[in-house]
Amino acid sequence: LTAMAGRIVSAMQASFECSGNTIVPQITIGGVVYGVDGVTADVLRQNADFALYHAKETNRGGYVPFNQKLRTSISLRMSMIREVGDALTECRIFPYYQPIVALDTRAIVGMEALARICQPAGGVIAAGQFQSALTDSNVAIRLTDRMLKLVADDARHWLDRGVPLQQVGINLSAADFNADDLEGRISDAFGAAGVPLRHLLLEVTETVLMDGHDNKAARSIERLREKGMLVALDDFGTGYASLTHLLNFPVDIIKIDKTFIDRLLIDRSSQLIVESLIDLARKLGMRVVAEGIETEAQAERLQELGCQIGQGYLFARAGDVAITTLRLQSSAQKRGEFEEKRLKSNFN
Ligand code: C2E
Ligand code: CA
Ligand code: CA
Repeated sequence: LTAMAGRIVSAMQASFECSGNTIVPQITIGGVVYGVDGVTADVLRQNADFALYHAKETNRGGYVPFNQKLRTSISLRMSMIREVGDALTECRIFPYYQPIVALDTRAIVGMEALARICQPAGGVIAAGQFQSALTDSNVAIRLTDRMLKLVADDARHWLDRGVPLQQVGINLSAADFNADDLEGRISDAFGAAGVPLRHLLLEVTETVLMDGHDNKAARSIERLREKGMLVALDDFGTGYASLTHLLNFPVDIIKIDKTFIDRLLIDRSSQLIVESLIDLARKLGMRVVAEGIETEAQAERLQELGCQIGQGYLFARAGDVAITTLRLQSSAQKRGEFEEKRLKSNFN
């Protein structure tokens, strides 16, 4: 079966001309073996479908034979998609906010909104546990819309109470750029709450940028930045061509992925990469945020390397809107006291 699938795949790749364009067709194949992967037509077809589905995601233009593990992981994902869809319908998804701090003073300089599912029984599920559901475009777009609305409402709440607010980051999915009118969706949500767009930071990963055609995402990002929103390149360093992307997609902020921070004090190459990145970002006029800082030693080393802003459990985990209000107020108060001291000492 493997050999035959290989022959079909390569036979299909013969290019041809069409209205002056060269077309290179591609096919993706999933396969099952009668007797091993099932004995009825229904089961065999379903399993072949699972294999094809997996092939399209991991090996486009190639062949993937079915195995039981595929079925488990795909059905898990399907049930996760259903669960997140239900939580959206029942309005049980809320943003939690993780502070982003200045490494020297620990003052809050921004926040990242992270989606949380509140379970009817009382538990809270973090996004990391349901992220696989975001491969479904419909769920991904609905999640973004809900986050945009609730974050805008919370921002309004803080502005109304005079709680100092800088930017709040929202994570976007590839589906957001492939669907039409991302700008409209954002402007509507923030417009309805009367919150200026300069309070919004859009976090985008490279995978999101690379998905789709014609640099659609890149052009969209350009327009969003023109409207006053900031854009961050998330999980920087984990993709395939990070540096190329920096040149092709100008962004305001680079978020260095946690994997580099984890290895910062362990291996020299991670330190060199982080150091060069900080230098490069400075030269390109971009700011750097280090993600996933868990120890004082990491925070200290990052500062030595010239990184000024960070995020991680060392400072705070994501908290709900009530906790976040207290955090923002106390950070502003500390900053006030700090300023007062500085003024006094300058005066004396
Ligand atoms: P991310 O954008 O890289 O967000 C950071 C994740 O790392 C968050 O997990 C955060 O809680 C966690 N984190 C922060 N500091 C530390 C640390 O010091 N140590 C460790 N071990 N973890 C830390 P979370 O909330 O589970 O989110 C996971 C991912 O799910 C996010 O990764 C993001 O890609 C995605 N996500 C979260 N909320 C949304 C959303 O509203 N929309 C979309 N499309 N994706 C979201
Ligand atoms: Ca993020
Ligand atoms: Ca990240």
